[in-house]
Amino acid sequence: MTGFVTDERYLAHDTGSGHPERPERLQAIWQELHQRSLWSQLLHLAPRMATLEELTLVHAESYCEFIRRSLPRQGIVWLDPDTALCPASYEVACLAAGGVLRALEAVIEGRCRNAFCAIRPPGHHAERDHAMGFCLFNNVAIAARAAQVYHGLRRILILDWDVHHGNGTQHIFEEDPTVFYVSLHQFPLYPGTGRADERGRGVGEGFTLNIPLPPGSDESAYRRAFEQLIAPAVAAFHPDLILISAGFDAHRDDPLASQRLTEESFRWMCRQTLQWAATFCNGRLVAVLEGGYALPALARSVAACLEEMLQAAY
Ligand SMILES: [Zn+2]
Repeated sequence: MTGFVTDERYLAHDTGSGHPERPERLQAIWQELHQRSLWSQLLHLAPRMATLEELTLVHAESYCEFIRRSLPRQGIVWLDPDTALCPASYEVACLAAGGVLRALEAVIEGRCRNAFCAIRPPGHHAERDHAMGFCLFNNVAIAARAAQVYHGLRRILILDWDVHHGNGTQHIFEEDPTVFYVSLHQFPLYPGTGRADERGRGVGEGFTLNIPLPPGSDESAYRRAFEQLIAPAVAAFHPDLILISAGFDAHRDDPLASQRLTEESFRWMCRQTLQWAATFCNGRLVAVLEGGYALPALARSVAACLEEMLQAAY
């Protein structure tokens, strides 16, 4: 089985009119999954709220309090020029992080072999103590640490194919040799981090792999990176669990970046990653939505990944 986490309540995080990270992203995905009859093949997992204890696996407690205290009574407040809070945002962000935890639990308990989380707000720019780039809590980072602390897994691979570098995830784990962070991203681009010479620090050196790709990169560049750089690194690391920061903004239709992937490129990357999961960790893989702002391209790309995940889980 392939697990699937989503919820109507994720629509309640209001980012204001004209913001690319908008509720319609999830609705486009839901519609596509219904149209392809994928919806009924998935094991639907109801998300829960992450607890403060779970959030503070990677975030400062003072930061979690700050987000809660900063909520407006009505309308929207801005934490930075990109990152909005509405009255529901704290609860929705807890539900996003908790949705990934629910997927993780289902995969570890064996209720499903892999799982996809269609959640918002996204997470990979969120730092230990500040919000950034549409992100409030670092959903994938919280799940990685929870897998270790609550489920006894040791080595966690985070593969981040969002077109932007996941600065938050990198910084949270850069001194940690047990969480291997691999990112493919357009460079230069927001947030400006993710150069190839950022390889981790201290005992974590060598457990961050940044693959910056120039604007205009197509599937062949991604394939080369997977085959020549990522595959040997994953084999050497031998993960107990694979988490994907699955952003779809490297699609050629995306308005926020200039890469040239198609939905078939995402299908290929997902299939490769599923093969690593099958080889090294009994298929355990949780994919978590990050970016992706061209709605039809986003929906088709998520559906392509889910078709691969269902096939791998059959
Ligand atoms: Zn992105």
